[in-house]
Amino acid sequence: MSQVNYLSKVGKWSNPTHIGQLYINGEWVDPSENRTIPVINPAMGETIAEVGLASQKDVQSAILAARQAFDDGVWRSTSPHKRAKLLSKLASKIEDDLNNLAEIETVNNGKTLREAKGDVEEAVKTFRYYAGLATKPTGETFEAEEPFVARVVREPIGVCGQIIPWNYPLLMAAWKLAPALAAGNTCILKPSEITPLTAIRLFELIDEVGFPKGVVNLVNGTGVEAGQPLVESTLVDKIAFTGGTATGKTILEKSVGNLKRVSLELGGKSPNIIFADADYESALDYATFAIFNNAGQVCSAGSRLLVDQKIYDQFIKDLVEVTKKIRVGNGLDPSSEMGSLVSEQQLTKIKNYIEIGKTEGAKLVCGGNRLRTNGLEDGFFIEPTIFVDVKPKSRIAQEEIFGPVLCIIPFETEEEAINIANDSPFGLAAGIFTSDVSKAERVAKAIRAGVTWINTYEQNLIEGPWGGYKESGIGRELGIYGFNEYTEVKQIINTLKVEPTGWFSS
Ligand code: NDP
Repeated sequence: MSQVNYLSKVGKWSNPTHIGQLYINGEWVDPSENRTIPVINPAMGETIAEVGLASQKDVQSAILAARQAFDDGVWRSTSPHKRAKLLSKLASKIEDDLNNLAEIETVNNGKTLREAKGDVEEAVKTFRYYAGLATKPTGETFEAEEPFVARVVREPIGVCGQIIPWNYPLLMAAWKLAPALAAGNTCILKPSEITPLTAIRLFELIDEVGFPKGVVNLVNGTGVEAGQPLVESTLVDKIAFTGGTATGKTILEKSVGNLKRVSLELGGKSPNIIFADADYESALDYATFAIFNNAGQVCSAGSRLLVDQKIYDQFIKDLVEVTKKIRVGNGLDPSSEMGSLVSEQQLTKIKNYIEIGKTEGAKLVCGGNRLRTNGLEDGFFIEPTIFVDVKPKSRIAQEEIFGPVLCIIPFETEEEAINIANDSPFGLAAGIFTSDVSKAERVAKAIRAGVTWINTYEQNLIEGPWGGYKESGIGRELGIYGFNEYTEVKQIINTLKVEPTGWFSS
């Protein structure tokens, strides 16, 4: 198949025959219905691989394998040190494969090689961090009334279905698998059907590490055919999902059958507030980075830029100047600073929002067009786009566009900035740029969001909690918070004096 030739030119794919397969119960297997789906390189608009599609039957096999591996205790009873050792080994294998994984990510997702390499580095850190956490104390004890002694332990939840999106394919797999495995769960990963390649490569490395059979499984396929059966299965104990808010709501509804645990990391429309007293150069630089990094396809993108009226005109002028210089191009070209969008569908969605912005009366001051010149003819490229004088209640200011489209809104007072920032169904992240420390603290406290950055943006720390308020999700990833999301809490009460209660006289 041509995919083998193409992909062996990109990076050093060791065994591309696995591209058409699923990883179930510790083995590469062919999908039962022998159906495939084309994978597109969005920078060229061409098919680069055919990926095997899991049927519901395949998903059931993966669920049964993970169920058995959990119930047999092959993983949860493995000592934390052994679990840590395997996770560390995996981290090292990913690190050794960095360039290869990054190239595969770039040709599948469209992001620049620099961004893809950063993702691989973060994935390595994530596996290392949770390898370390696997061996750390997680329980609690408290002073119980005599003669009782009590302690609280954390135990793995069980079988985890993990459904991830296309914007950070490898990194999202790491964020899901590492804490779940560290805590002793078994996993079934369902990547986005449009960006499955780095997950397949990751599972080749997982296979080399040698986790016990059934502990970690991969089902490629569509949301409805491969994702939903995980959500609906009563043999699955937890669903961890990252993706759009609408899908997150569907998942919540469909998961109630066995009241499974659900954690959701959803969309955002994050405000980035620039006060007039901010360090001007950094504010300008971060305002650009916050929205155009990863072509704006970031849940925490600073997509609403709130700018102090005192510097509004000058700031916009300078921002437009910087933005016009951003080099958009094929992610494999080292000179590209912004890659393509992930798909034609995403391109269409963003173009629609640009039209909506115009009809809503926002002023388009930069970009707005598909790019089709200089080798970009067949790819899904769009100019970095800026709207100014955007009304806070308008659709482009309220809905997640998920692309390189910035909406700038002026404000006059601190109170007004906070009100505009909080006027959103989302609450994932926020940025605050000011040189006034007290103001920064006041605003950070007043904003209803899971992450607030002061004089920085998109600083993502594995040690800290990641997740949103309101419709940006339920639960937290990363840090001890992310680990705890993969555990159940059990209280164990013992008595030092074994005797009848004497409650009933007979
Ligand atoms: P989705 O939320 O639909 O997809 C995310 C994951 O969920 C994919 O693996 C998808 O599978 C799967 N999925 C879809 N439907 C179901 C279902 N019923 N049950 C179980 N799993 C399901 O994102 P889209 O790709 O459709 O993007 C739509 C919008 O979502 C974007 O335009 C963007 O606004 C937002 N988004 C937000 C992200 C974030 O990080 N906040 C990430 C990605 C998207 P498959 O792809 O195979 O259909």
